[in-house]
Amino acid sequence: MRIVLLGAPGSGKGTQAALLEKHLGVPHISTGVLFRAAIKEATPLGVKIQSLIERGELVPDDLALELLEERLLRADVADGFILDGYPRNLSQAESLNELMEKLGQAVKEVIQIDVDTEKVVARIAKRAAKEGRSDDTEAVLHNRMRVYEEQSAPVVDYYAEKGLLTRILGTGTKEEVLHYILSVLELNEPEKPA
Ligand code: ADP
Repeated sequence: MRIVLLGAPGSGKGTQAALLEKHLGVPHISTGVLFRAAIKEATPLGVKIQSLIERGELVPDDLALELLEERLLRADVADGFILDGYPRNLSQAESLNELMEKLGQAVKEVIQIDVDTEKVVARIAKRAAKEGRSDDTEAVLHNRMRVYEEQSAPVVDYYAEKGLLTRILGTGTKEEVLHYILSVLELNEPEKPA
């Protein structure tokens, strides 16, 4: 069960990945979460990347790949993963491909969560109030959106060409979106009797 979730900042990738982790019993791997942990612990990586993240820029590909590879080599990923936040550009998509080959694994399904920008901005404003992420301010968010459009959006076509991509609508409740994703994975729970 190796799944990649794609979507703009605020599309709900992280939320859905956490729900899927519970449902499927494979770990949710978020490069954003791993980077924020490194910053908090002031590891050498964390110190290097802090200002980039705070400006809404991408972390250099080699550092992101190193972090991902280290995580994918851990024992808990043997049966699969839900990847959130990687790949974020075409070069990372190629790297993930190579890494999967090296590990004798393959991504089974790529799901793009579509939402409109207006909704995303409102969601992030709400999250900023709750979590206080330093990259959730309006100016930085604007930059993250631009970076997403320029660098991450092409990744969708990359996976579409490989026949791995399904797009789903990310509007609706968390449970509805989860339901769509599980249908794509053909893992829906049986309908409850009326
Ligand atoms: P969001 O998807 O809401 O923007 P994330 O938690 O996925 O939030 O990412 C936060 C930040 O972490 C990004 O803006 C970027 O600076 C950095 N980051 C996360 N994943 C990657 C990656 N694969 N490559 C480069 N930078 C990354």
